[in-house]
Amino acid sequence: MRNFDYQRAGDVAEATALHGNDHSADFIAGGTNLIDMVKLDIMRPQRLVDVNRLPLTDIESLDDGRLKIGALVTNTDLAYHERVLADYPVLSEALLSGASTQLRNVATTAGNVMQRTRCPYFRNPARPCNKREPGSGCGALEGINRNHAVLGTSDHCIAVHPSDMCVGMQALGATITVEGPGGTRDIPFEEYHLLPGDTPEREHDLNDGELITHVTLDAPIDGARGHYLKLRDRMSYEFALASCAAVVAMDGDAIREARIALGGIGTKPWRSHEAEAALSGQPATEQTFEKAAEAAMAGAVAHRDNAFKIPLAKQAIVRALATVTAQR
Ligand code: SF4
Repeated sequence: MRNFDYQRAGDVAEATALHGNDHSADFIAGGTNLIDMVKLDIMRPQRLVDVNRLPLTDIESLDDGRLKIGALVTNTDLAYHERVLADYPVLSEALLSGASTQLRNVATTAGNVMQRTRCPYFRNPARPCNKREPGSGCGALEGINRNHAVLGTSDHCIAVHPSDMCVGMQALGATITVEGPGGTRDIPFEEYHLLPGDTPEREHDLNDGELITHVTLDAPIDGARGHYLKLRDRMSYEFALASCAAVVAMDGDAIREARIALGGIGTKPWRSHEAEAALSGQPATEQTFEKAAEAAMAGAVAHRDNAFKIPLAKQAIVRALATVTAQR
């Protein structure tokens, strides 16, 4: 592990000033992801700006029905918040399916949004990786790629996005607010994480020195129910092989509106507008769910070891939809 300078900020303005536009500086909060990568010599910050004392720990119901979540709200506090349990159960279920209790107690909302891939080649500095070292190649393309993505991949990177929380937020609709040298700006959640394309080292729409201050969930869809289904090799402390966040509002026996997001199979938290279109106005039957699953995975591309993820993801979609529509 390399040495780095450490500075602690007291408010947002001080944090962004301490960071500046310095490419070699990073913000640190819970540290559950960043410290791992510093120890592995994957990330080499020369300065860490500690933001743990910033006043960003509140969850606030807004007058228009939205829910504003401070960047430093822990995954545990968010999962058990009364508004989340009542109006956004899919998010609570997604959060509680991730990591372990100990990690959720310190992992933050913004840190979860910023979480980086678990691709083993990315986490091994001795192996080629275009994300870690642009132009060095991709060890996973011809290597062991059982856990890698089947949607959103490129010839340069097939790493899967690891977050469960982000899949729940993707289904609910949200806005990420950042503060930085250029002032405040809002980024739609769906546009925040970037596809790898030919620049897999660029993972998000965040400029140097910008700090996430809060995430605001859209107002809940009237009458909607939600469910997060996560399929994995073991039942706890494991990343998804495929997961589905389903939010569905019914009108009698027909689906009035549906939101579908997928995890474990995409290079970013994956919103499937194709599946949503296939569900809208249709009866809540297994046949409808299967059509939506086919639509969601129509663009999937498998590599040597991960073809099984395509039928697995379809099953996750069908099961999540069957569960959520049975809740009426
Ligand atoms: Fe690196 Fe992406 Fe290839 Fe993994 S899949 S080795 S993160 S370029």
